Amino acid sequence: CRLIMCPPPPCRVKNMATSASSKLNKAVKQQYMDLPQGGKVQALYIWIDGSGEGLRCKTRTLDSEPKAVEDLPEWNFDGSSTYQSEGSNSDMFLIPVAMFRDPFRKDPNKLVLCEVLKYNRTPAETNLRHTCKQIMSMVQNNHPWFGMEQEYTLLGIDGHPFGWPSNGFPGPQGPYYCAVGADKAYGRDIVESHYRACLYAGVQICGTNAEVMPAQWEFQIGPCEGINMGDHLWVARFILHRVCEDFGVVVSFDPKPISGNWNGAGCHTNFSTKDMREEGGLKVIEDAIEMLAKRHSYHIRAYDPKGGLDNARRLTGHHETSNIDEFSAGVANRGASIRIPRMVGQEKKGYFEDRRPSANCDPYIVTEALVRTCLLKEEGEEPNDYSK
Ligand code: ADP
Ligand code: MN
Ligand code: MN
Ligand code: MN
Repeated sequence: CRLIMCPPPPCRVKNMATSASSKLNKAVKQQYMDLPQGGKVQALYIWIDGSGEGLRCKTRTLDSEPKAVEDLPEWNFDGSSTYQSEGSNSDMFLIPVAMFRDPFRKDPNKLVLCEVLKYNRTPAETNLRHTCKQIMSMVQNNHPWFGMEQEYTLLGIDGHPFGWPSNGFPGPQGPYYCAVGADKAYGRDIVESHYRACLYAGVQICGTNAEVMPAQWEFQIGPCEGINMGDHLWVARFILHRVCEDFGVVVSFDPKPISGNWNGAGCHTNFSTKDMREEGGLKVIEDAIEMLAKRHSYHIRAYDPKGGLDNARRLTGHHETSNIDEFSAGVANRGASIRIPRMVGQEKKGYFEDRRPSANCDPYIVTEALVRTCLLKEEGEEPNDYSK
C-alpha cells in the first residue's frame, strides 16, 4: 500500500523468473538423499550433444566403485534425440574418458565424461576430443599447459539477465567487475556453490571473479596439461549448469548476450610449453606469436562453434576485445588478440594469453589449434592431416 506521493523504489526487481522445480522442497529431497545406497554406485555419464555446445547426461547403477576410468563400462544413447543421428540408425556409443567425484550425489558416486562414437565407431561430428587427443600425444614432450578463463552470464528462465530490473537496465558498467555488495554482485550463491562443487569433484578450478557486466562472472580452470584442459573445462561447465538448475536460473555462454554497451563473454586461453616456462622463454613466446600472426583466420574459425559468426558479435575492438579481422599482440594489452601478461614480460618467461576464443568455444579445438600452430608449426588455412 503506497501513498500517492511516495515514488516507487528506483530499481524494482519484481520477477526473478526462477524455475518451478527450484521451488520444490529441498529439505524433503534431502531426506531421500541421506538414505544408504545399498553398496551400489551411481555413475552419471556426460557427453557433448550434436550442437557442439549442449551437454547431456544419464545415470546408471554400478555394482562396485570404479577406481579408474578403465573400470567403467561403455554405454549408448539415442542419437536421434540429441541432434546426433538419424532415427533409423540412432544408437551412439559412450566411451568413458575421464572420471570425477560427483558433488551432487557425493561419494562414492561419479561423474563420467564420455566421448561419442557413431554406430561404426568413428567419432561423432561434435566429438572434437578425438583429434585433440592425437595432436596432444604428438607434443607430449613439450608439456603444453593451458589455463582457460570461462566467462558466463546468469539468466532467469525468461532469458533476462539475472537480477536486472525486469523493465530496463542496471546502471552502466564500471562498479561491477570484482565487486561486492547486493547492488553490484548478482548471483554470488551460484558462483560459490559451483566453486566448491568443482573442488569436491577434482576439477582443477583455480579462481573466480565477478565480471564487468552485472550478472556476468568468470571461473578459471588450469593450469592443465594437454587433453586435461578440455576435459576439466567441460566438466566444470556441466557442474555450473547443474548448480544453476538447483537455483532455478540458467547459465548462458553466449559471447554477446546483451548487445550495445555491455561486455561480451570470452574464454581467454592461456598457453605455455616447458621451453616458455624456463630461462629464455620470452623468445619462445615471441616466436609462437609470430606463427599465430600468420594464421589468424584459421584460429578465428576454430574459436567458436559457428566458425567465427558468434565471435563476430563480440570481437568488435571495443569492450576489451580486439577486432575480429585483425591480429595484434602486446604486453599487458587487453585490446589485443594476444596479451603477454606484464609479469611474464618482466620475468622474461612464462605464458601468453589468447583473448580470442568465445565463451561457447570447444576447448578441445582451441587447444588443438594452439598446438598445431605454435608447436607443430603448421601454416595455411587448413589443419594438416597426420594420419597419412
Ligand atoms: P587475467 O589476468 O587474464 O584475468 P586470470 O587470473 O583470470 O587472468 O587467469 C589466468 C589463467 O592462466 C588461469 O587459468 C591459470 O591457470 C592460467 N595459467 C597460469 N600460469 C600458466 C602457465 N604457465 N601456462 C598456462 N596457463 C597458465
Ligand atoms: Mn580472468
Ligand atoms: Mn574476464
Ligand atoms: Mn584474461
